[in-house]
Amino acid sequence: MRDAGVKRQSERRRVRVARPTGFCFGVERAIRLARDGQAKHGRVFTLGELVHNPSVLDELEREGIRAVKRVEQCRGGALVIRAHGAPPEVADRCRELGITMIDATCPYVGKVQSVARRLKSQGYAVVVVGEKNHPEVRSILGFSGDAGRVYSPRMRLRSPKVGVVAQTTTSHPRLREAVANLNRLRYTELRVFDTICEEVTARQRAAARLAAVCDLVVVVGGRSSANTSRLAEIVRDAGAEMVHVERASELPRERLARCRRVGVVAGSSTPAWVVSEVADFVRNPDKEDRTDV
Ligand code: SF4
Repeated sequence: MRDAGVKRQSERRRVRVARPTGFCFGVERAIRLARDGQAKHGRVFTLGELVHNPSVLDELEREGIRAVKRVEQCRGGALVIRAHGAPPEVADRCRELGITMIDATCPYVGKVQSVARRLKSQGYAVVVVGEKNHPEVRSILGFSGDAGRVYSPRMRLRSPKVGVVAQTTTSHPRLREAVANLNRLRYTELRVFDTICEEVTARQRAAARLAAVCDLVVVVGGRSSANTSRLAEIVRDAGAEMVHVERASELPRERLARCRRVGVVAGSSTPAWVVSEVADFVRNPDKEDRTDV
């Protein structure tokens, strides 16, 4: 039998789900292109995971779309470049091996790649503000050639001309801080391109708003997803209580039971149904017939 006190408390709980939610345009497009590719070529591979969600990956694998680590593993099929993009060497290798390449690089990431390539051709050192080992940053560095560097506060560049671009999922405070530091070094020329994705910014703003008014903010998305981790960081930095989950089954019932106002915000590669599942659990953590726990 349900505990009456817990029931009363959960009924009073207010749950606010941040907008936008569900897959962003770039992830949705990459999935669509992979499915179209599968229908046309039969076997389709992706270089790395297409989305940071195990259930969606399982579903795609059942459809014949499998994640691999190296281009050589794609022989006999087509290779999908995911939304993060890939360095130009990947396309070269596909040509060498006769592998069909389907480019699902998000157009916003493609824009950063082309800015980086242009800066390099104009003699600028290219500074990428982002995470050193993230696939998107590696792809941007690939288009920057030997002119590319990932920003670090201690960096000193020989080039008098410096061009700055941002990983699409970084935050504006991070970009501003990097630019302020580079400005102090007095390069002859410093050009800055704000290449942060608007969708990412909208989710970051929503996370900050929820952090200001909620007792607890649930951040939903893959632990290896850069934009989801940034949302978690924003909520934490705002001093709010935060829990980061990939699925509803990871939610802490007891902690939820103590909260009246709970916010839910999701990364751009989190499917809408996972967000609904989490919001539903938050509303009714004591529901007895759950299939997800
Ligand atoms: S978050 Fe923005 S840049 Fe990244 S895939 Fe989605 S739409 Fe593209």
